[in-house]
Amino acid sequence: MSVAAPPEAPAAPNLRALLPDELATWLGAHGVACTLAEARSVLSRELACRPDERPKRETVKKAVRDAVRELVDHRRLTVVERVEDPADGFVKYLLRSPDGALSEAVRIPLEKPDTFTVCLSSQVGCAMACDFCATGRLGLQRNLAAWEMFDAFQIVRDEAPGRVTGAVFMGQGEPLHNYDEVLRAARVLSDPSGGRIKAEAITISTVGLVPAIRRFAGEGHRYRLIVSLTSAIEARRATLMPVTRKYGLDELAAAIREVARTTGGRVTVAWVVIAGVNTGDDEVEALRALLGDVPLRVNLIDVNDARPDGYRRADEVEMARFRDALSTLGVPIVRRYSGGQARHAACGMLAARHFESSTTVS
Ligand code: SF4
Repeated sequence: MSVAAPPEAPAAPNLRALLPDELATWLGAHGVACTLAEARSVLSRELACRPDERPKRETVKKAVRDAVRELVDHRRLTVVERVEDPADGFVKYLLRSPDGALSEAVRIPLEKPDTFTVCLSSQVGCAMACDFCATGRLGLQRNLAAWEMFDAFQIVRDEAPGRVTGAVFMGQGEPLHNYDEVLRAARVLSDPSGGRIKAEAITISTVGLVPAIRRFAGEGHRYRLIVSLTSAIEARRATLMPVTRKYGLDELAAAIREVARTTGGRVTVAWVVIAGVNTGDDEVEALRALLGDVPLRVNLIDVNDARPDGYRRADEVEMARFRDALSTLGVPIVRRYSGGQARHAACGMLAARHFESSTTVS
């Protein structure tokens, strides 16, 4: 699979992709003495605080502030549009990068009042071509750089009328297809001088890129991984998610076992529920055969892509029947609300709500 690189990076690193030690090292390499405390202070002021919360008094010496201004890239995204869905409070942001690329982020209200999570895109377009997904039909234009992902978070956070407590990489793109930049963004998001989000409140989704899942498992991250399974039947999944032709279900199941082993906890699998397609008893039995020995949690997400001739959401009767059948597996089943049905149609996996206070429905 070819990976489109971000547009040629300027020589200077972007401020929004730097950790304090990296900033201090970068400035030191350019002959500017900067202590770790000073680097932390610079980054905290710019990244960790909303503009109205920034301390009035400047504590970092002028030489360092001047060097940061001159030696570090400060480019940011611009907001093209923000659209709130009055039905559910989701706010979708359309953002423009300096090269003109457009990407999306979504502010998602959580069940706890005045708290939000941010759904981030990892790529412009997507190469995975999932059959139920509008983004998949665009193809991949390019990877987003870590700073673009962090900046999307920062823009959304700074406008939120409350606290942003999490981030989910479930917007456009396949996060593990842009592994290094997504993991860098997650590190800056969870740094006390960056996004100040708990590592466990950062969720990274994947359609099942097996080598990247193995790498993730081996690196021992505290971020949460969600594998979008959607079907446990090889031929059906290959139609819905062509990635299956490259990494078959047995290989994927082995990688999921590895995640379970290294994290010692349940592995979350997402199931994009499509009426009449992947809600039958055959799926439940296939899932039992494939992963019945693995501690799982199953997230049910309504397909979020209304094509006139295409896939439909399951009605409540079909959903309840499927949930009951799944409950025989003895694993927690969580129905995720997939927001913005009316105005935010995009990725079939986009932005499931209730990441922190979910409702177990069986
Ligand atoms: S569902 Fe996600 S991974 Fe699949 S094509 Fe859409 S954006 Fe890509």
